[in-house]
Amino acid sequence: MKYVGIDVGGTNLKAGLVDESGLLLATTKMKIARIDNQENLAWTMASMIQDLAEATGTGISEIASVGVGVPGAVEIRSGTVLYTCNLPLRNVPLRRLFHRYLPQPLYVENDGNCAAVGEYFTGAGRNSKRFVTVTLGTGIGGGIIHNGRIFHGSNGMAGEVGHMTIVHNGHPCPCGRKGCWEQYASASALKRLTREAMDRNPDSILCQVVAENEGNISGQSAFIAARRGDPVGQEVCRLYIEYLAAGIVNLINIFQPDTLAIGGGVSNEDDAYLLHPLQQQVERESIPCNRDKRTRVVKAQLGNDAGIIGAALLGKKKR
Ligand SMILES: [Zn+2]
Repeated sequence: MKYVGIDVGGTNLKAGLVDESGLLLATTKMKIARIDNQENLAWTMASMIQDLAEATGTGISEIASVGVGVPGAVEIRSGTVLYTCNLPLRNVPLRRLFHRYLPQPLYVENDGNCAAVGEYFTGAGRNSKRFVTVTLGTGIGGGIIHNGRIFHGSNGMAGEVGHMTIVHNGHPCPCGRKGCWEQYASASALKRLTREAMDRNPDSILCQVVAENEGNISGQSAFIAARRGDPVGQEVCRLYIEYLAAGIVNLINIFQPDTLAIGGGVSNEDDAYLLHPLQQQVERESIPCNRDKRTRVVKAQLGNDAGIIGAALLGKKKR
């Protein structure tokens, strides 16, 4: 049998077909602008599944189930999207709407949890019983797997790791709190730290790096400057890694996972400049324990496909 995973992102709807082993066979993508109402979302999902089936010569009846990852809160039991952060989806009975078009079982899950499931079964979390993922993007997404199961909490909302406070009375966050981790360690936060450093140091190599990029500050700017020996860029990287480590150590102290994987664009940075100093900082701050029992902090392995693969595997694991 085969499985479809769908990732509802801020700008794109992405779908992929995977086989029994979680191998991604084909993907398709559609701009989110076309999803102007709930009915249309369900219809678009069904038509993407039909496209995938046609492209791979798969019969619709060979697709055992469909999983959907959404950026927000869901009710797993009924397959309802309760709300999403960046899309106008509120109380959408997605499973019911989807069944007007296709009969496959539909599983609705938070997208951070989908990424964790994907990495757990086919990526960085293989061979771990307790596993945490942290995805560094516009915000910070998270997923917690405990003994092979997603840790949902009492209401399906567990794993919102980006909204733990790491700076008391710090930067305001759209969630209503101040000093949330994602205000300091997301890709967006890294860009803010970079811009602040540029304002203080207008003659720095960091400013040159950004000028060479047509004035666009990216999550890579500070790392490029640091590699060129720029003390301003190096200081931004040091500060960013310190913030990143603060949240990671909190997660390790609470969950003591076997493995914690960091994903998202920022995690692709050179190991010598991100992963290795991060591991050292985490080790300095962690509660001492046996070396062989320490949480391994690693890079996620599936890149942008983690969410699709994990969503697809939701149904397979249920079977
Ligand atoms: Zn927050």
